[in-house]
Amino acid sequence: MLNVVVFGGPGSGKGTQAAKLVEKYRLVHLSTGDMLREEIARKTALGAAAAVLIDQGQLVPDEIVAAMIAEKVAAGKANASGFIFDGFPRTIPQAEMLDGLLSEHDLSVGKMISLDAPEDILVERLLVRGKASGRADDQDEKIIRNRIHVYHQKTEPVIEYYAAQKKFISVQGVGSVEEVFGRLCEVVEK
Ligand code: ADP
Ligand code: AMP
Repeated sequence: MLNVVVFGGPGSGKGTQAAKLVEKYRLVHLSTGDMLREEIARKTALGAAAAVLIDQGQLVPDEIVAAMIAEKVAAGKANASGFIFDGFPRTIPQAEMLDGLLSEHDLSVGKMISLDAPEDILVERLLVRGKASGRADDQDEKIIRNRIHVYHQKTEPVIEYYAAQKKFISVQGVGSVEEVFGRLCEVVEK
């Protein structure tokens, strides 16, 4: 099984590239951001609680995303050739939880691939995405900058966690979607 964490700041291209990897390698795409937006669209209690945090650019509590991921891994394990984790793990406790969860299923993370892009490019991309998608957390530059701040503070330390396991690989995230995809495929197939 090929289990890959696609990592990077908000707007670095995780969702775009994960979708392409899923298609090429027949993987199951697990995006906690998509799962949370689905809860919001279905107007569940969990969705309502998450929306307040998401709209401020804060992270949702670890326990909530961990439970969603656990359910999807158990459900997807039988017919997947692997999982792409997109936007998860975003904290060290989430990374620890993922290792524990996968080992219960006799699985593990193979690679953690980080898409690197400068902050100004992230902001620019998210403002464009906000116009097209209407996503509330993409409308306001202040909220976007807060998400990037939270990324540096809480999410970037996850790099060290995977570097210690010799699973961390950094890929240049600037360039066309196809160029970045080419770099990712090279790394995935190595
Ligand atoms: P993430 O999932 O990391 O937040 P997305 O994949 O949603 O990021 O990408 C953020 C925005 O940038 C989207 O509007 C997407 O279409 C655009 N985008 C993604 N990759 C590139 C790229 N290589 N060059 C330019 N724009 C990109
Ligand atoms: P994304 O679509 O991955 O950019 O996620 C959108 C928002 O959902 C984030 O800004 C967080 O508020 C929340 N979120 C998504 N994934 C996680 C996660 N793994 N841990 C905590 N919050 C998350």
